[in-house]
Amino acid sequence: MAERDRKQTRRVPVMLPFPFPGPFDYRVPADLDPAPGDVVVVPLNGREQVGVVWDAPVDRGVPDAKLKPLAAILDTPPLPEVSRRFVDWVAAYTLAPPGEVMAMALRLVPGQAHAPLSGWLPSGAEPERLTDARRRVLGVLADGRPRATPALAREAGVGAGVVRGMAEAGLLSPVPLPVAPPFAIPDPAHPRAPLSAEQATAAEALEQAVGDRAFSVTLLDGVTGSGKTEVYLEAIAECLRLGRQALVLLPEIALSSQWLARFERRFGVQPAIWHSELTSRTRRITWRAVADGVAPVVVGARSALFLPFPDLGLVVVDEEHETAFKQEDGVVYHARDLAVVRARLSAAPAILVSATPSLETVANVEAGRYRRLTLTARHGGAVLPTVAAIDLRESPPERGRFLSPPLIAAVRETLGRGEQAMLFLNRRGYAPLTLCRHCGHRMQCPNCTAWLVEHRIRRQLQCHHCGHAVPIPPECPACGAAASLTPVGPGVERITEEATAEFPEARRLVMASDTMPGPHAAAEAARAIEAREVDLIIGTQIVAKGWHFPHLTLVGVVDADLGLAGGDLRAAERTVQLLHQVAGRAGRAEAPGRVLLQTFSPEHPVMQALVEGDLAAFMAREAAQRRPGHWPPFGRLAAVIVSADTAEQADALARDLGRAAPHGEGFTVLGPAPAPLALLRGRHRRRLLLKTRRDIAVQPILRDWLARVPVPRGGRVDVDVDPVSFL
Ligand code: ADP
Ligand code: ZN
Repeated sequence: MAERDRKQTRRVPVMLPFPFPGPFDYRVPADLDPAPGDVVVVPLNGREQVGVVWDAPVDRGVPDAKLKPLAAILDTPPLPEVSRRFVDWVAAYTLAPPGEVMAMALRLVPGQAHAPLSGWLPSGAEPERLTDARRRVLGVLADGRPRATPALAREAGVGAGVVRGMAEAGLLSPVPLPVAPPFAIPDPAHPRAPLSAEQATAAEALEQAVGDRAFSVTLLDGVTGSGKTEVYLEAIAECLRLGRQALVLLPEIALSSQWLARFERRFGVQPAIWHSELTSRTRRITWRAVADGVAPVVVGARSALFLPFPDLGLVVVDEEHETAFKQEDGVVYHARDLAVVRARLSAAPAILVSATPSLETVANVEAGRYRRLTLTARHGGAVLPTVAAIDLRESPPERGRFLSPPLIAAVRETLGRGEQAMLFLNRRGYAPLTLCRHCGHRMQCPNCTAWLVEHRIRRQLQCHHCGHAVPIPPECPACGAAASLTPVGPGVERITEEATAEFPEARRLVMASDTMPGPHAAAEAARAIEAREVDLIIGTQIVAKGWHFPHLTLVGVVDADLGLAGGDLRAAERTVQLLHQVAGRAGRAEAPGRVLLQTFSPEHPVMQALVEGDLAAFMAREAAQRRPGHWPPFGRLAAVIVSADTAEQADALARDLGRAAPHGEGFTVLGPAPAPLALLRGRHRRRLLLKTRRDIAVQPILRDWLARVPVPRGGRVDVDVDPVSFL
């Protein structure tokens, strides 16, 4: 037998960014020496693909002769071990294919083949003859500093083709561009305002947790305006002093201009920022800086969890109760929960921050798994706003209007004192429903189980689920009656119209995601409010987010009952959180704040909790309701969502799943049932729900169950572990 036949072929598993069940093996050519984490190029179905060398056991099932060779190892920092373990963990927990999870980390990788972070230097080859253009290029490079093609062409005043031609002629050699530290280093010793005694105690405890270099979870719970941010910035300062990296997750990074300003006030510079709308260049630079450890603090959206921190020393989740942390598309995960997992993998503390913590987190505190630090007083002697309900049955608005006389009077009074007021309604557009006065026809989305929402400014009816939009028709599409279509109910546009009529002198600002797209609009809005260029703010849930507006003293909630409809498990909890957060925008400085809730049921426990300001009692009541039935957080849920092109297909697949549903001690399957959004983007949807006791993991049950049901062409089964939305 020949020598080389006896020698085993070296092979490595490579995770590819596709929904395969695991990594594939590749043969390692003699000139390459890959290690786990290396970003590599491999052939796949006749194409080159970028993947990551994984540490999974090598699959000897595929004979050597069938293995394709590794093509190249890319010159980028490897995906650290901790990131690979995180990917494995997320895949196992969410049941997402590991390659798809890895793709979230890899999408971020700089220098994928066509976008190299490399530049040119003279190769030293002696040209026979030089054109002027080529001479200028060499002249620019004479200082020994490599430049990328566009910069080099610009400085030399030549076209990029000249540079490429010189490279092809062997006159230039590619060299990796040194990555200068792109982020200034935050200075923990930067002078800061002193903390109150209560704040200092909490800050010390958090600094201690960071200094322990061990996994722990702390809930930082404090009334709105108590300075929670100032306190956890001290934990970040400690992390910086230790030379480790810190990650801060914010629910909506686009609305975080005030947060960034505060960070800069505390540390003298801005942190690195991470979200999906960064340019690809900034993304590459940031990824690289994180991997190289030269970005000490990253503030970002949930996807920042997948950045390759080599030495993460702290993870903070601000506004931890926010449902925006749940990613609903693609890999379905909850960033708050994954933040805790990520911290554990790095033996680092996690800090969950909220004035209205989720019942999940509160239950973890009560079970002794998390610690709790509480700030009881607003900073600087500001007092919490008073909250009162306006009973709409007793004080109804005028016909066709939505602001009740007491609310109008309160706004007028506030504006009269030169203070700012806010009207809150969590609904975009002009009206949530358009109806024919003649035949009763309701304008519905053809692709979704949803009404079309009127957007009067844009003269459109729009579906908020699929984006379908049509011009407002002049006549009813069902009966043909002219001018018979009538808006039913209010959205912020309609409230703005009413406020304009009611308070014509007030300078108004509408804050909704469609009127303020992007971070610049939000930052400008915040600036205008702080500068008192605005008297009356009218907004959707955007206005509830952590803003600090010192001159805002009145918050009016137009429809406090809005979130309570529907059978959602967390409807009451979420309504309390949202309304308490909106209320928390009022009276954050010297002048006391006032909150008015328009409601048809002032006796509802949600309204009572808000009026009395007793969230703890409310949460205890919620817990008492959920505990006996093993509802989360006292049990586990996983949703199985069936979708198909036709209703029949969806029903058949849902029925098959229902028939194959597992039975056992401590768990049940509910459904199948039509999803509340039974039609979404043209797909027919059905839902099943696996419910287990807390001590039973849903994943093995799900895996076994789903493996037994074949999914026909056109059908699809999605899994949502720990669902937040039940649509
Ligand atoms: P929370 O996050 O608890 O709602 P913030 O951290 O936003 O509260 O604090 C409210 C306001 O009070 C912010 O403008 C903040 O800068 C200010 N503040 C809080 N604590 C201090 C402090 N110790 N010194 C100076 N300003 C503070
Ligand atoms: Zn639609």
